Amino acid sequence: MKNKNGMLVVFSGPSGAGKGTILAEYLRRGTEAVCSVSATTRKPRPGEIDGVHYHFVTKEAFEEMIQKGEVIEYTCYNGNYYGSPAGPIRKLLSQGKDVILEIEVKGAKQVRDRFPGALSIFVMPPSFEELKRRLVGRNTENSEEIRGRLETARREVAMALDYDYIVVNDVVSDAADRLGYIIESARCSRKFNRDFIEEVLENA
Ligand code: 5GP
Repeated sequence: MKNKNGMLVVFSGPSGAGKGTILAEYLRRGTEAVCSVSATTRKPRPGEIDGVHYHFVTKEAFEEMIQKGEVIEYTCYNGNYYGSPAGPIRKLLSQGKDVILEIEVKGAKQVRDRFPGALSIFVMPPSFEELKRRLVGRNTENSEEIRGRLETARREVAMALDYDYIVVNDVVSDAADRLGYIIESARCSRKFNRDFIEEVLENA
């Protein structure tokens, strides 16, 4: 007997820290974890596909989702709504699949408050200079947006110590290794097994 539910994994870090790259490497290794597809009111970037990278929705549709309780958390980030749809997440967890939420710090706090069994991991860039270099290098934001993202990054890093684990993204494959170890050890953690232990005691 064991906890048969999947684990809810919150994965945050400043824009440009490499969350997406680490996750892609981790998933490429054949784990059964699934990344939740968020809803957002942000416009798609070139190459982004509706339903794959995000569910791109209107402000009205997003506000309706909030009202109906169809997101487990949401936030307004750089002027756009972002949120994690509740239905698919609950279904995957009940099927025993780990669900990874790649979300920013305010949403992460909502998840930690609502789901005490969730695992939370914060990805750090090796330095701020490196973060700036990566943001400039990926060429998806103009210089004013980059300044805004660096400012946001400073505020986000200030919340890193609220998370269970910190992963520094120095070398992507090493960071993906560490993510794997963290998830496996969290499966044996007290907080993930609380309901299971209580269930065992009730039937003892
Ligand atoms: P981007 O616009 O670069 O795709 O995402 C901006 C920020 O929003 C990133 O830090 C990303 O992790 C975060 N984000 C993406 N989806 C969600 C979500 O569903 N909820 C919250 N709270 N943040 C999200």
